[in-house]
Amino acid sequence: MIAVVFAVCQWMQAAAPAPLPTFQHVVIISVDGLRPECVMPELEEAYPGLARLARGPHTLQGRCDPETSITLPNHCSLVTGRLASGAAGHGWIKNSDPPSRLQGGTLDANHGGYVSSVFDVAHDHGARTALVAGKLKLVLFEQSYGADAAEPDSVAPDNGRNKLDVFVCDTEPASQLDSVMATLRRAASCNQQSLTFWHIPSPDFQGHATGWDLSNGSLYRKAVQKVDMALQQLFHELDHDSRLKGRVSIVLTADHGGGAPHISHTDPLAPLNFTIPFMVWLGADSPSCDLYEMNADCRTKPLAAERFKADATPPIRNADCPNVALALMGLPPIAGSTANAKQELQIVAPTTASVSSTRQQSQSSDTKP
Ligand SMILES: [Zn+2]
Repeated sequence: MIAVVFAVCQWMQAAAPAPLPTFQHVVIISVDGLRPECVMPELEEAYPGLARLARGPHTLQGRCDPETSITLPNHCSLVTGRLASGAAGHGWIKNSDPPSRLQGGTLDANHGGYVSSVFDVAHDHGARTALVAGKLKLVLFEQSYGADAAEPDSVAPDNGRNKLDVFVCDTEPASQLDSVMATLRRAASCNQQSLTFWHIPSPDFQGHATGWDLSNGSLYRKAVQKVDMALQQLFHELDHDSRLKGRVSIVLTADHGGGAPHISHTDPLAPLNFTIPFMVWLGADSPSCDLYEMNADCRTKPLAAERFKADATPPIRNADCPNVALALMGLPPIAGSTANAKQELQIVAPTTASVSSTRQQSQSSDTKP
């Protein structure tokens, strides 16, 4: 894989946009209620796992859904690549535990038509799929994409209707990691692709108990530290397993931030709630780069306290995540998705050579009369 990435970088010096390297495995990590301040360089020593992710393409000015900053609607976006509202939206606006499947607790029953997901595409193309959830409400996806509710496999060979091979509900990051690793190792042993969605709830639990307090030693900071320890362990496992090393890409983001009001995140107009990190790790440490700079033609970076810029291209949202993950697996976007629907988001970082040559060009044009 290192050779593939190197080849891509070589190619980039001559032309753009760059093709993505593809990976056998992708892990989507949604850290519930993660404030982007936890990824800032001054906290690198406190959070080395998050810091390592921030060495790749990333932004700390990602956005959640423009109209809602609560957990379940934003996770529906993270799974379907759609915003919550509008005719093409996934339409799930409640945050309570869903009713049972037979009582309408599926995305398709709520929407009035099938809402495809990242699990559909991965499964139908033969990948192993897993959802490791930290809140029971995410059973919505097990109910929506299990054998009883999901659509038939649309890509030969027929892998059955059940789009989720594994569904685990567990609140502890350390034991959740065991489930994540089990999926990666099982797929690796069968030479199969895999897509794992890992939802880590602990920062949100702590935020609701004592607030999104970013001061040194706060209980919220300690909850994020626990997440970071699991991320460090994940990196350790990936670094030391020859079947996985260089073959796993990670996309980490959040459903929302938190702190407005103090022990919640219900106000979708509050910057504390709508600002989230969005980070991609391409199987190996790479130079840090800004996703907005790489995507100036299709994404507009809002000001720090701005939800989005009116009359401009959208910001980078958590809804972009599932089609990024599929692109990293070499798979097509989700049918009916609206965010990153053409997989237009550029993820591969420019090489140092191409950056310096661009800078030289702009400097020389600036000095023209
Ligand atoms: Zn919450």
